[in-house]
Amino acid sequence: MAGILFIISAPSGSGKSTLVSQLRTLVEGLDFSISYTTRAPRGSEANGREYYFTTREEFEKMIAAGDFLEWAEVFGNYYGTAVSALERAKDAGRDLLLDIDVQGAVQVMKKRPEAVSIFIMPPSPQVLEMRLRNRSMAENMHMEAVIQKRLAEARNELKQIWDYRYALVNDVLDQAVAEMRAIVLCERGDDDGVRALAESCRTSAASPRLQAALSTFSE
Ligand code: ADP
Ligand code: 5GP
Repeated sequence: MAGILFIISAPSGSGKSTLVSQLRTLVEGLDFSISYTTRAPRGSEANGREYYFTTREEFEKMIAAGDFLEWAEVFGNYYGTAVSALERAKDAGRDLLLDIDVQGAVQVMKKRPEAVSIFIMPPSPQVLEMRLRNRSMAENMHMEAVIQKRLAEARNELKQIWDYRYALVNDVLDQAVAEMRAIVLCERGDDDGVRALAESCRTSAASPRLQAALSTFSE
């Protein structure tokens, strides 16, 4: 395996975590980079599984020590990808998935232009709002202000979509998972009859599906 770096970004609540966890049951050899964050654990999250939870002070020490490939402040908390995660995956010859926000993705695209960037698009602001609400109810963390902030931020992040190599719309989950699998396999050079599907997700193809979803955000 080549040690490909996959950057996945999506507005919060688009379904990225859901998609990535399904993808990893279908595709072997994909490591997930566990980020550092100063936000508090949510729901059943555990330290060292979803994130390494740390303090602002420790995080700032790591910035100063040059420990991060990229870092950003998102919704008032720090998030960052440790250089060591990349080194570990590379040494093991495994591909690495980075689930990072747009600001972090832009930094990685500059430092590692060969990285494969994928943007996950919610089908519409209405669906995004519903998903954010459902998730916050399920986790017993319902805060209207947080939901509204995330919706506003989503519109901002969408402006960056054309910088990504691929974009897919997470409407029907199985379809989005199939698209993501197709992208990963094709980028590995393992066509498996899914090249046309992967190609249809290139941002340069600007598919009607992608354009339709984008247009709902400018209404
Ligand atoms: P993210 O990681 O992008 O913040 P999550 O994966 O936590 O988003 O998904 C947000 C919510 O939307 C969750 O409740 C999840 O179950 C739901 N969800 C994700 N993808 C879909 C989909 N394709 N259709 C319906 N609901 C979805
Ligand atoms: P959440 O708090 O919902 O888990 O994540 C909030 C946002 O932070 C998401 O957009 C997620 O992709 C982003 N994020 C998670 N880890 C990192 C990271 O290491 N770096 C950057 N730049 N963003 C991250």
